[in-house]
Amino acid sequence: MVAFLGTGIMGFPMARRAMRAGLDVRAWNRTLEKAGPLADDGATVSSSPAEAVDGVDLIVTMLSDADAVVSVMEGEHGGLAAARDGAVWAQMSTIGIEGAERCLELAEHRGIDMVDAPVLGTRQPAENGELVVLASGPDAARDRCQPLFDAVGQRTMRLGAAGEGTRLKLVVNSWIVSVVEGLAETIALAQGVGLDPQLFLEAIGGGGLDMPYARMKGTAMIEQSFEPSFPLRLAAKDADLVVQAAQRHGLDLPALRAIAERMAQGVEAGHGDEDLAATYRASAPPA
Ligand code: NAP
Repeated sequence: MVAFLGTGIMGFPMARRAMRAGLDVRAWNRTLEKAGPLADDGATVSSSPAEAVDGVDLIVTMLSDADAVVSVMEGEHGGLAAARDGAVWAQMSTIGIEGAERCLELAEHRGIDMVDAPVLGTRQPAENGELVVLASGPDAARDRCQPLFDAVGQRTMRLGAAGEGTRLKLVVNSWIVSVVEGLAETIALAQGVGLDPQLFLEAIGGGGLDMPYARMKGTAMIEQSFEPSFPLRLAAKDADLVVQAAQRHGLDLPALRAIAERMAQGVEAGHGDEDLAATYRASAPPA
């Protein structure tokens, strides 16, 4: 039995994939109605984290950030207090290095193994079970998570000690936010100098400079279509986590600092629930 804590953009389809792979699922979400439709697929919808984790073998957290994960798991009424001895916690949200350390401490204090397993991929890959799982932590605990990872992912990378998955996730997300912000300014530049920005996509098409992700996000910018699969507020959070990681390790990465600031401005301007491609709005030439 697997308890999913958090059934947002990612947690919901992941829980559904787990059920379709034959796993028994309990689901809890702070806004309970969002978990409700999972009952149609056979999940038990729980009214608190403690109720969801009671007696399960595996607890999955897929929540927005470190504070959310800690608030759901710690304390007398939290998930960890209600977990049975020997349960495994798969922490799959993106929570940064310090966040992963906080969670690891909580798990150790409770005497439970935590697998640090953030994922690559967004809404559609989650719906199709095509995520890449960056699994780090004790071998035996990872083995127990594997049926779940196989249900939600096309591939699991087995890394070292817990924390390594989070570090690799930050590295990949630094690349994602760099591509998207670079793309936003490239498309704005094309428009600003009087070109049809489609010409840029045509120019890079089919060669070494081309990239499916750039094509997808670039088209979203050109069409100003920002239906969220990876909301800007989460990308801004991740860009900030990348900057924090760089600072912690004594690195000077000014472009990433600028990207984090730019994305934070987009959130402040009210675009946090749009896709991260909406960071383009700040660079777009005046209509
Ligand atoms: P989401 O749709 O915004 O869902 C966030 C979830 O966290 C919701 O269940 C929300 O509950 C819950 N939550 C937020 N604050 C909370 C709190 N204080 N207490 C309890 N629950 C709280 O986000 P998502 O896209 O599923 O992302 C989940 C995690 O996966 C994030 O760490 C994100 O960075 C990461 N991730 C996202 C993507 C992506 O493309 N979307 C890809 C890879 C990884 P409510 O429904 O009540 O608000």
